[in-house]
Amino acid sequence: MQNLPIAIIGGGLSGLYAAFLLEQQGIDYILLEARDRLGGRIAVAKSSVDQNASSHSVDNEKSNDGFDLGPSWFWPEYQPQLSSLIEKLNLPRFAQFEDGDMMVERAANQLPIRTQGYQSSPPSMRLVGGMASLINTLYARLNPTRIIMGQIVKRVIKTERCISIESESSAEQMTAGQTTTYQAQHVLLALPPRLAAANLLFEPALPLDLANEWQETATWMAPHAKYVAVYESPFWRNQGLSGSARSAVGPLTEIHDASLVEGNGALFGFFGVPAHIRQSVSEMELKAHCRAQLVRLFGAQAETPTAEYLKDWAQDSLTATPADASGSGQHAVAPNAKPNIGAWQNCLTGSASEWSDAFPGYIAGAIDAAHKAVQGLGLGLSELSSSALPSNGIVDE
Ligand SMILES: Cc1cc2nc3c(=O)[nH]c(=O)nc-3n(C[C@H](O)[C@H](O)[C@H](O)COP(=O)(O)OP(=O)(O)OC[C@H]3O[C@@H](n4cnc5c(N)ncnc54)[C@H](O)[C@@H]3O)c2cc1C
Repeated sequence: MQNLPIAIIGGGLSGLYAAFLLEQQGIDYILLEARDRLGGRIAVAKSSVDQNASSHSVDNEKSNDGFDLGPSWFWPEYQPQLSSLIEKLNLPRFAQFEDGDMMVERAANQLPIRTQGYQSSPPSMRLVGGMASLINTLYARLNPTRIIMGQIVKRVIKTERCISIESESSAEQMTAGQTTTYQAQHVLLALPPRLAAANLLFEPALPLDLANEWQETATWMAPHAKYVAVYESPFWRNQGLSGSARSAVGPLTEIHDASLVEGNGALFGFFGVPAHIRQSVSEMELKAHCRAQLVRLFGAQAETPTAEYLKDWAQDSLTATPADASGSGQHAVAPNAKPNIGAWQNCLTGSASEWSDAFPGYIAGAIDAAHKAVQGLGLGLSELSSSALPSNGIVDE
C-alpha cells in the first residue's frame, strides 16, 4: 500500500484549495470525498427546466445555470486572498443586483409594504456560473487520479509508521459498503470540526479538550435551507423592485435576486422556519408555501416559475449533525486546528473554513484555513516552508 505524504479528508473548497497548493509544490497526496460530487457546501442547481428538482438535484459539474444553493456572495474589499485567487483563475464576477425598492412583510394580517431598498457596502459579489465555477476551475487544474469521490472516511488510525485512513464506498458506488485503507504521513481535515469530531473515529482518541472544542464549533449555515425559483426573466425589475424582501410571516425570512447575468431571472430565499419543523412538511408543500409568499410580495407572475429548487442543509449528514438543528446565527470562534499533545501532535491539521481565525465559516475562511494548514506542514516537507508560499496564498504557475 502506498504511503503518501498527505491525505486530505473532504473535497469542499478548503480540500480542493489545499490540493491545489500541494500540487503546485509537487507534493503527492490523496483527497477523499464522501459525496459523489465536489464542492461540499458549494452547490448549484442542476437544470433550469427540471420542475421536480429536489434536494438531490445538485450537480456542480454538469450545471451551467449557476443557481447557488449554498454560498452566493463574497466581498473582495475585505477578502483580498479569495479575491486574488478568483482573479488568478480568471473567473468573471458581478455585483449582487440591488437596484430598486424592497418588499417587507411585517405580519400575517397586513399586506406587504414597498419600501426603499438599500445597497450593500461594500457590494456583495457573485460569480458568473455560480460559486461552483470556483470548484470546477480548481478541479480542472488538479490531477483527477488523486481525487477520489464516494469515499466516506470512518476511521483514522495512528500507528508508529504512518496514519491509516479507512473509508467506506458510498451507496452510489459500484463497490458500495466496501472498505478501503489509505496510508499517509499527515492528515488534513477539510471537513467542519464538528463533523470530524462526531463522525470520524480517531485511534487513539483525540485529546478530550480538543475533541470537545471541535464538537462545540457550530458549522456555519448547517441549520439552514435555501429555496430558488427560476423565471424566464426578472419581471420584478420592470416594477422598480430589486427582488429583495424581508418577512416576519415566512416561510422565507430573507429574499434576494438570484438572476443570471443574462437570461433567466431568479429569486432565492432563506427559510425562517426551524429545521425540525421543515422536516415535518413535505418538500412539495414547502415549495407551495414559498411560491405563495413570492406571489404576495412580487405579484401573480411569481406563481409560475420554470423551475424551483430546495436544498435543506440541516438534513444533509455530510454537512450537519443533530447538534446543528438550530444555530445562534453567529460565526463560531475558530477552534485549535492541531492537537498540541499526544499521538496526533504534528500529523493532523484542521483546514476547513471553521478553522480560519479571519473568516470562520465563510468561503474566504476555507481558503485562509487551507493555506495556513498547508503552510504549517513545513515539518519534514522543506518545500512547503512559508517562504515557498506567497503571503496571498497563490502560487505562481
Ligand atoms: C446556504 C448557505 C449559504 C452560504 N452563504 C455563504 C456566502 O454567501 N458567503 C460565504 O462566504 N459563505 C457562505 N456559506 C458558507 C460556505 O459555503 C462555506 O464556508 C464553505 O463552502 C466551506 O468550505 P469547506 O471546504 O471548508 O467545507 P465544506 O464545503 O463543508 O466541505 C467539507 C467536505 O467534506 C466532505 N465530508 C464530510 N464528511 C466526510 C467524511 N466522513 N469523509 C469524506 N468526506 C467527508 C463533505 O462532503 C464536503 O465535501 C454558505 C453556506 C451555506 C450552506
